[in-house]
Amino acid sequence: MPLKALEPGVQLQALSNGPTLAFKDMAMQLLGNLFEYELGRRGETLNILGATSGDTGSAAEHAMRGKKGVSVFMLSPFGRMSPFQQAQMFSLQDANIHNLSVEGVFDDCQDIVKAVSNDLAFKRKWRIGTVNSINWARLLAQVVYYFAGYFQATSSNEQRVAFTVPSGNFGNVCAGHVARMMGLPIARLVVATNENDVLDEFFRTGTYRVRGSAETHETSSPSMDISKASNFERFVFDLLGRDGARTRELFGAGLQRDGSFTLGDAEKARIAGFGFVSGRSTHADRLATIRDTDARFGVVIDTHTADGLKVAREHLLPGVPMIVLETALPIKFAETIEEALGRKPAPPPALADLESRQRRFTKMPADVAAVKAFIEQNAPAP
Ligand SMILES: *Cc1c(COP(=O)(O)O)cnc(C)c1O
Repeated sequence: MPLKALEPGVQLQALSNGPTLAFKDMAMQLLGNLFEYELGRRGETLNILGATSGDTGSAAEHAMRGKKGVSVFMLSPFGRMSPFQQAQMFSLQDANIHNLSVEGVFDDCQDIVKAVSNDLAFKRKWRIGTVNSINWARLLAQVVYYFAGYFQATSSNEQRVAFTVPSGNFGNVCAGHVARMMGLPIARLVVATNENDVLDEFFRTGTYRVRGSAETHETSSPSMDISKASNFERFVFDLLGRDGARTRELFGAGLQRDGSFTLGDAEKARIAGFGFVSGRSTHADRLATIRDTDARFGVVIDTHTADGLKVAREHLLPGVPMIVLETALPIKFAETIEEALGRKPAPPPALADLESRQRRFTKMPADVAAVKAFIEQNAPAP
């Protein structure tokens, strides 16, 4: 989790040196060991079912591979992940990892996971679990690196820090919020979004308006392409003074009926007290930031980190170190890096041959019954 200095006052925090080169490894690697330990202690097994468009599934598989008592059934949309992401998942040869490549888009995969999880009898019999972004253990593990960043960036108890977090499902920055609530002197938490700016809109206006799938853009920072942010309710609950009834009013009735809610003026005024500000970044911003960071500092950053850095510079506080979380390494999104710099980023040496490794996956129709049948045939006997 070391810091890399850019211009004075701005640093990147490296979080992406785990096996799948994205910050999600930080929490998933812990989770894999916790699962193996606790399942062993109880003499139980668990089948993790998930849907992924790239980063999450890959981090989960690399965390659970070879772990005793755990199997993973990961659905991904056939032919729609980046070549590097496909190789990361499909090159795993571990017997407890099952890649189901679904003929459909990510939403089809997610719908299948929901349908299987909603069949409670099946879920119980086959001990189905998930490791999605609302998993509290993942969030807790992420709190740690905010402390690590703070200790590196400061030299006295009087100093405060700011963090900028490239955000999608609000899991990463929610961990920053938890760190702040625990007493870490965070002056500012900057939420950076891409063109899918539902969170930026909320922090600027107090209106949270979820987008339909037609309104969700496919961008060059794809891990931030969300229509609604699944951890967001946790923050709003705190913002509203932990008022469960009001939270339910906003997320239940308001959101489900109208697809949006708007905070009252007094509620909106509380956002600043929690340190939150936000901004958005576009494809053009991303390219410009990647180019500039390479030219000025000789550092190649990934597209999500570029969104963060662009927005961070709009929210600097004098005398407060700004730490931008590096959420992935550039090799994962090589096409856009090449568009920006005219050259491909170099893979880490250990992964140089990744894309030529043998692949192991099962192609499937977008069909709930087919996925259930696959689990029945491949999960350990119930
Ligand atoms: C998952 C991910 C994000 C978004 O993180 P959230 O916790 O969903 O807000 C940002 N960048 C990268 C590279 C990711 O993999």
